[in-house]
Amino acid sequence: MSTFALAVHGGAGTIARELMTPAREKAYRDALELALRRGHAVLADGGAALDAVEAAVRVLEDSPHFNAGRGSVFNADGQHEMDASLMRGSDLRAGAVAGVQNVKNPVTLARKVMEHSNHVLISGLGAFEFAHKHKVELEDDQYFFDQFRYEQWKETVGTDVYKLDHSDKEKMFGTVGAVALDRNGDLAAATSTGGMTNKRWQRIGDSPIIGAGTYANNASCAVSCTGHGESFIRAVAAHDVHALMAYKGLSLEEAVRVVVHEKLPPLDGDGGLIAVDGAGHLVLDFNCTGMYRGHVGADGVFHTAIFR
Ligand code: ASP
Repeated sequence: MSTFALAVHGGAGTIARELMTPAREKAYRDALELALRRGHAVLADGGAALDAVEAAVRVLEDSPHFNAGRGSVFNADGQHEMDASLMRGSDLRAGAVAGVQNVKNPVTLARKVMEHSNHVLISGLGAFEFAHKHKVELEDDQYFFDQFRYEQWKETVGTDVYKLDHSDKEKMFGTVGAVALDRNGDLAAATSTGGMTNKRWQRIGDSPIIGAGTYANNASCAVSCTGHGESFIRAVAAHDVHALMAYKGLSLEEAVRVVVHEKLPPLDGDGGLIAVDGAGHLVLDFNCTGMYRGHVGADGVFHTAIFR
């Protein structure tokens, strides 16, 4: 096996084309391409899919343009609580963190949970203590602050409304994720998010839930989702793509189409997902106006897109 493939996303939602200036579009695309380049370097070198997805997601977490790590949205209490997960398709090992604060790269903490604990998902203060113990980089609150997100939160604070970071006309950032196939034939997926603006304290979305927002299995595919988390949890969206392939024999493209366009919409499941199968086929699909996304294969040609 010598082929490899990588896809990334930076969130899906209702992105108004008329508000997307060329400069803005360039900033998002540059960040997506940088993430692809980091992951591609790992894969081209014969590295593991898990290393590639972690490397790609870290770039997007470090970019204030996306709702993950730096630039995460505010919860109802005006704080940043982040969720992340990753999974390896070769042995179905997974790690995840939920409701963590002050962790610079939640995806790396999720990996530590996978590799240095007997658990899959650790939340809140327990995860913070775990981060401290494993010397994961921490940052003060100011690091995560973004003026744009703050104003977005101000519009909803004190109400019961919670929303997708990018669901308003001019709000167009989002959760991040990556999926990869490496030269060894192994698959991996990772997802990281600040969740939804004005979410309740300690609300947990789909991103850190294995099977909902993230799933990888060498028998079928690797998947990372973005969208209305509650719906993706109810649809067990990422695992459903796997199940349609493994049990029903659907192709990756067909399985993704069924989940994104048939199963999620009746559950108010606005959003999309990226997926890769064991042959290196990539599918990046969504049921809303846009999804920040990009992909690259063994040919080293980087593709990025926002709208359909
Ligand atoms: N799925 C994320 C959540 O519900 C939000 C997003 O994709 O932007 O937490």
